[in-house]
Parts: sequence; structure tokens; C-alpha cells
Amino acid sequence: MRQSRIKTLVVTILTLGAIILMTATSYSNDYKLNCGSVSAETSKASLTKPVLTAKLKKSSLKLNWTKAEGADEYKIYRSKKKNRKYKKLAELTSDTLTFSDRDFKGERKKYFYKVKAVSRSGESIEHIYSNTIKKTVYKRKSKVHGVTYIDGILIANKTYKLPKNYDPGTNKKAYKAFKKMQSDARKDGINLFIASGYRSYSYQKSLYNSYKARDGKEKADTYSARAGHSEHQTGLAFDINDPSSSFENTKEAKWLASNCTKYGFIIRYEKSKEKMTGYKYEPWHIRYLGKDLAKKVKKSGKCLEEYLGVKSEYKQR
Ligand SMILES: [Zn+2]
Repeated sequence: MRQSRIKTLVVTILTLGAIILMTATSYSNDYKLNCGSVSAETSKASLTKPVLTAKLKKSSLKLNWTKAEGADEYKIYRSKKKNRKYKKLAELTSDTLTFSDRDFKGERKKYFYKVKAVSRSGESIEHIYSNTIKKTVYKRKSKVHGVTYIDGILIANKTYKLPKNYDPGTNKKAYKAFKKMQSDARKDGINLFIASGYRSYSYQKSLYNSYKARDGKEKADTYSARAGHSEHQTGLAFDINDPSSSFENTKEAKWLASNCTKYGFIIRYEKSKEKMTGYKYEPWHIRYLGKDLAKKVKKSGKCLEEYLGVKSEYKQR
């Protein structure tokens, strides 16, 4: 009995020892295995969130993202709602950092995009999402409640008419931008004020008719818009100080011309662009586009019609 107990004990100890040894071996095996993929381990840990940016092009939305170290693949997703299901648009290799979405449906839709960096180190797959990005995408030309937008930019000129009942009043953003510009101008000793802002369809109608009665239709058309064709009806345009030829060359006109884009405005009817805008030079008439777009248009050296690739001509002479 005793002997067999000792035997059992020895066997147990040996077995335990073997188990311990086996465990130790398998640990070291594991360690060795991991050693072999240590770089993958490291890169997995540094898989950074790709920073997603998007830019609207004429017929697509171009997405760009920063390289996520250790990524083997990127997956692009899109959704209409931020927290809804995202549809996969593409799977791209790790050396691709751009994707153009050309599949826009509808008009003025908001889309949310995500980019997912995928790392396939060893057997584990790691997914890291970038921040979701919200973009409003537009059809090249769309009409919303009778108002025409080209690439999402409201256009009102001799070709594109506004509906009779379109009466948005003064645009709040445009007015706020004007107030900021006005207060900054004051610091430079320049006094700016709005001589004429939002005008309703019916007011424009009476205004144009009075000019037509005074100067005749042909002449009136060079400086005044027919009802529904005035940018003033959009609430995005202001006449500054003195809407007459005597405003040109004043220090206020010069200040306005060189500073208004900083606040999101452009001089809408430039001197050399009469044929394209359909109006004679109006150094006092500014149109709000927002800072980014105003700077782009100014930098292009084009008038808004040229920039958008549209005309400004009445159908009826
Ligand atoms: Zn004006």
C-alpha cells in the first residue's frame, strides 16, 4: 500500500512536472510565434484613425484620407443618416488614399461617409473607422421650389428666374457677414451701409417698370432686372452706399472691392464682364456666396456666370 502510494505520488509529481514543462514549452512556443510577427503586433497597435476629408467636384464627391500605418485595406461606406446602416461603396488597397463617389441620386442630398482601415496582421483583423463626414451633394443643376441651383449655388439672373412667391427676406448669414465687414471697415475709417437689400418680386416689378418708363426697355435692361430676375429677391445681394456711377473710385468702393471676399461677398457685376452677367459695371452691388466660394470665384478671375458655366440672357428681348 505504502509503496503504491509513493509510486502514485512520484507519478503525479512527474506528470505535474511534465505538464509544467509542457506549459513552459508551449509558452515559449507562443512567445517564439509572436516573436515572428512582432512587427505586425507593433503596427497593429499604431493603426491610426484615417482623417477623412471630402471635396465636391463637378460630377463627383472626392474623398481623401490620411494613411493609417499598418492598414492593409480601406473600405469606404456611405449612409443617408449618421447612425443608420452604412452601405459599402468600395474596397481599396492600402496604397489608395482617395475615392470618387459619382453615384449621386436625387437633389441636394446629405450623405455621411466613413472610411475603415483594415489590418490583417496574423489571424486577427482590426478595423478602425475614421470620423464620419457629412457632405451635401448636389446635382449639377437642380430646382428647389422653383429656384435654380447650379452645383448647389443659387443663381438668379436674366436666364434664371425666381418664382413670384419666393420671398426669403434678407439672408441671415449674409447680413451677419455684412455687419462684420461694416465694423471692420469702420476701423479703417470706411463707412459702409446697405442702400438697398432684399426686394420682393412686386417691389422689383414696380422699380423696373419705373426705369422702363423713364429710359426705355433696352436701356433699363442694362442696369435693372425684370421682376423675378433680380438678385435682390434672393436676400443675398446688397447695394452698398450709393448705387450710382459716382460710387466708382471712392475710397469706400476701393475698400469694398479689395476686402469683400474676406467676408464672403463678391462684386457681382464686374467691369469687363458686362456681356456675361448681362449688366453694366456695378461696384456697389455685392452678392453673398460664403467665404470659401467667394474666394474661389475671386481667385478664378471669372464672374459668377463664367464660374458656373451658365448664361444670363432674357428669353424675350
Ligand atoms: Zn443691386
